[in-house]
Amino acid sequence: MRHQGTGAGLKTAALYVVATPLGNLGDIGARALEVLRGADAVACEDTRHTRHLLDHFGIRAETFSLHEHNEAATAERLLRLLREGRTLALVSDAGTPAVSDPGARAVAAVRAAGFAVIPVPGPNAAIAALSASGLTDPHFLFYGFLPAKEAARRKAIAGLKPLPCALVFYEAPHRIEETVADLAAELEPERTLVIARELTKLFESIASLPLAEAPAWLGADADRRRGEFVLAVSAPPPAEGLGPEAARVLALLLAELPLKQAVKLAAEISGASKNALYDLALEKKRES
Ligand code: SAM
Repeated sequence: MRHQGTGAGLKTAALYVVATPLGNLGDIGARALEVLRGADAVACEDTRHTRHLLDHFGIRAETFSLHEHNEAATAERLLRLLREGRTLALVSDAGTPAVSDPGARAVAAVRAAGFAVIPVPGPNAAIAALSASGLTDPHFLFYGFLPAKEAARRKAIAGLKPLPCALVFYEAPHRIEETVADLAAELEPERTLVIARELTKLFESIASLPLAEAPAWLGADADRRRGEFVLAVSAPPPAEGLGPEAARVLALLLAELPLKQAVKLAAEISGASKNALYDLALEKKRES
């Protein structure tokens, strides 16, 4: 193995976690290239896939595979190399490693051993989709892949339903119809679904529609079901009136705290509207 880790001003005995393009090679970052050029070795999911990327940019770095099934053993190999003072890079097939991709366990092992782990940020499908989604919710929850089996998937979606934020999922073409059908069945029909497909690639498309209409829209054209998907669902519509849980939380907090503080906390805990909670708190105060 070549010793050239210090070449590009890179840290030695460090693991760089490098984001790579989702599809359009033009999205590689300047710093990502610098790190991949300077690293002694690149740990990657599929060596052939990464070889193609490296060849495109004329980079000769040595590669070795780190995937779901060999991550523990490969982490050992990373540690050995780091103890020798090598500079290493970690990439996945596309996007940011360790985000719905292998890498998290290796990163944990490297950090636990006291070596530097340095992120080189760049492409990520969820963020790319959100940035162009037109959803205006201030918060989102990134879920990644839902369970493959219907019952577990439905249960997971039902658990996410009350969260006061947009929801972001990854999905593969062979499950896109089922997953969208389950989202439509479990969540409020008026929530917006953004279907971001093949981002940065030739057939990129970003469709935004009411969740209730999404299954029929997908079913109408096989091309809409091809490729890789990010699904983003808008936050739940504001509740009309308060649910019993929000009212219960408010009552408990009002017994202990000043009104404003109780309302603020009750809104944070329950996700219910602050105004509605405030009105209810005033009503309760008047009654007492
Ligand atoms: N680590 C990657 C990232 O940072 O986005 C995600 C890897 S995960 C194994 C692959 C999933 O990401 C795909 O099934 C799809 O849901 C989503 N994805 C990846 N590339 C995409 C693209 N070009 N367009 C839409 N979704 C994409």
